[in-house]
Amino acid sequence: MNQIRIGAFISERRKAKGWTQSQLAEKLGITDKAVSKWETGRSMPDLSLFMPLCTLLGVTLNELFAGECIAEEKLKEKADDVLMDVITNWLGHDKWELKEGDTTPRHVLDVENVSKLYKTEHDSVLAVNDISFQIPHGSFVGIMGASGSGKTTLLNLIATIDSPTNGTIRLNGKNIADIPEEAAAEFRRRHLGFVFQEYNLLETLTIYENIALALTIKAVSKESIHPMIQRLAEKLDISAILDKFPYEVSGGQRQRCACARAIVVNPDIILADEPTGALDSHAARQLLDTFAMLCKEYHATILMVTHDVMAASYCDRILFMKDGEIKAALNREQENKHTFFADILKKIEWIEGESHDVLEIVNP
Ligand code: ADP
Ligand code: MG
Repeated sequence: MNQIRIGAFISERRKAKGWTQSQLAEKLGITDKAVSKWETGRSMPDLSLFMPLCTLLGVTLNELFAGECIAEEKLKEKADDVLMDVITNWLGHDKWELKEGDTTPRHVLDVENVSKLYKTEHDSVLAVNDISFQIPHGSFVGIMGASGSGKTTLLNLIATIDSPTNGTIRLNGKNIADIPEEAAAEFRRRHLGFVFQEYNLLETLTIYENIALALTIKAVSKESIHPMIQRLAEKLDISAILDKFPYEVSGGQRQRCACARAIVVNPDIILADEPTGALDSHAARQLLDTFAMLCKEYHATILMVTHDVMAASYCDRILFMKDGEIKAALNREQENKHTFFADILKKIEWIEGESHDVLEIVNP
């Protein structure tokens, strides 16, 4: 993958559309500086911007990666070359071998015909529309979808922060609708782990205290808390910052602390909403490696919402949401995990393509 070539291609296509750098930046909701950096090959667009950028410039993803328009007949061959290059550059080493002994997976989460209708004074929004899926123990599942597709709503329903209009959600066989409201907070602390984009840690406590706090809820004795935290901190590479306050460490370190706090109570499931959203790509990869490690070594079950293809490519399975519905799902096949990234891109392109068709019909 040649960053300079891609930059020149973006520049050429932008000019062909008759747009200034500022105009393109505005359409993408980013700064002029970012566009200027891409075009001079100093940086690459964020992965989440690839699809909107391609749509605006009227090129395919493969063409963008190749840095040139590709003739139809050469498309497949070229696409595979380029995407393989992308994958090896971004994904790093193997982390996703299937877990041993997990031949008959038990479902940690069972979502059955769940809908959520938000009613406001003037209109109503069906944010989640008749969704059903299951998550087996020890898996790392991603939910992808454009902004407004209902991802956060779905996560909040599972997190017992909000309740569905219809349908049933079972966590380890227990219908969460049966939990009395006054017991909901306690239930969340005991059974769920959270890693959100921000606001993960209490700012007035040190990192150590933040993690320890989670453990005291489980009535773990003082003597065993210390070695537990030390061991986990070593695994997550945060030993050196345990005595610091959250505002004294980097975003990536904060997120790994949030992971430590989430996993330390051995929750049924860890819910993560755009956990890499505020991180640079190095810190994001480190966090995703941490999630993958938690699955592999601690048999954690993780449900992560993301709109970033790189982040999603760490998952075992991906559900694609659009307009409140799950439109497609993808499993990482053990034998061809290197094509997973490419498969995700293709799936997104397919789902996006579907919407273009609809737009054309509505707006001929
Ligand atoms: P995502 O996380 O995929 O961006 P959300 O779940 O936040 O999507 O939102 C899905 C839809 O539901 C959007 O149309 C949003 O405006 C609407 N929505 C979300 N929360 C509320 C709410 N509390 N009241 C009314 N509408 C809401
Ligand atoms: Mg959201």
